[in-house]
Amino acid sequence: MGHLVAHGHELTPNPADADVLVVNSCSFIDPAKKESVDTILEMAEYKKTGRAKKLIVAGCLVERFRGDIRKEMPEVDALVGTNEIERIVELCEGVDAGEGASTAPYLYHDLTPRVLSTPGHFAYIKIAEGCDHPCSFCVIPQYRGAFRSRRFESVVAEAARLFQQGVREINLIGQDTTCYGEDLGLRDGLAALLERLAQIDAGHQTWVRFLYAYPNKVTQRLLDTIAAHPRLVKYIDMPLQHASARVLKRMRRGGAGDHFLKLIERARRTIPGLAVRTSFIVGFPGETAEDFAELCQFVEAARFDNLGVFLYSDEDTSRSYALDGKVDARIKRNRQRHLMAIQRKIARARSRALVGTEVAVLVQGLSAETDLLWEARMATQAPEIDGVVLINDVEGDEPRPGEIRRLRITGSHDYDVLGTLLPPTEAAPALPPPGLVQIEPVAVRL
Ligand code: SF4
Repeated sequence: MGHLVAHGHELTPNPADADVLVVNSCSFIDPAKKESVDTILEMAEYKKTGRAKKLIVAGCLVERFRGDIRKEMPEVDALVGTNEIERIVELCEGVDAGEGASTAPYLYHDLTPRVLSTPGHFAYIKIAEGCDHPCSFCVIPQYRGAFRSRRFESVVAEAARLFQQGVREINLIGQDTTCYGEDLGLRDGLAALLERLAQIDAGHQTWVRFLYAYPNKVTQRLLDTIAAHPRLVKYIDMPLQHASARVLKRMRRGGAGDHFLKLIERARRTIPGLAVRTSFIVGFPGETAEDFAELCQFVEAARFDNLGVFLYSDEDTSRSYALDGKVDARIKRNRQRHLMAIQRKIARARSRALVGTEVAVLVQGLSAETDLLWEARMATQAPEIDGVVLINDVEGDEPRPGEIRRLRITGSHDYDVLGTLLPPTEAAPALPPPGLVQIEPVAVRL
């Protein structure tokens, strides 16, 4: 989007208004592939009836099914793989320089023009791309390539610019953020990066969070760093995938529930007020009733703040595709429901325990559910994946998106809490205008 805007093009979220339709696709698991294909077919209808003359498909589906898309979907005019992002301009402008797809691993940098698709008070920064882990269920490394980090100063420069423009919360992402800097020769690179980001003084309160930690890469220095800096939110997202050592071994991840419990205890001891998020896969090939019972016991013991449960998806290019003991779809769904029911009880008790306390919240805007309430998030709630705070009473000025204010929690649901927003203690920064964050000449600086 940034490249297109930098070249004078206008973006529209309305396909009926577009001259060129671009579908950015995903092919991680079956539901993502289906959603991508359905969207391509839906957009193809606009090409037949609307003003659009061209349909371009970008992203991971292209990496995985380039030949199939070409053969089966004649309505698609051009393809853009994950390493060819910068070709989007020439393809939209109709200057198709032909195949010649770049295979050099792509990674954006601080001078890459960028359009924020988030609401303006929070942003994601990708700090690394690709993955070197051998998880047997995962096809991501096949399409995203080997792990590579962005330069330290490039991330710092981008974060500083976003904060200066009014962004309140930065979420660092990558397939594995905890490996950050290993390829640059940095030791504890993520801890060093967080420490540096926590020192950026934007003149207003800011939050920095990272997502997707790999459990055996969570070092004591990383925990100490999170504990030491108020601008680093007390939050760890660490997908564990399972708790049975037998299943984890078949997943080629290693570890076991009792090791994970010790790590979580140590993290909570080091970082008071820490929220821990994780995710699991149920129905992995060979997962027995005993393995699943072990996972349930583990979840009861760990008392996660936030938890996601995914059904195993049997991807034909994954290593686990060849494993025996495939689990029936109905059993998988039952296990997912059962595990989520355990977590719902834990979440309900956690939410209830917050009633009567005062917390800092980042005001998001009107609630996604009803225009009658405002919505906010505590630092322990990541955007788009965790619960929210619903504001049902306001003391002092009306809320403004992007404000960080105190809130008194007065009620709770399972995953969300309700509360009274207290009077502001600082002026909210002006948020960046929706859309373009920066336009700079595109320099090749990986
Ligand atoms: S660490 Fe994540 S991205 Fe990497 S192989 Fe494992 S599941 Fe896939």
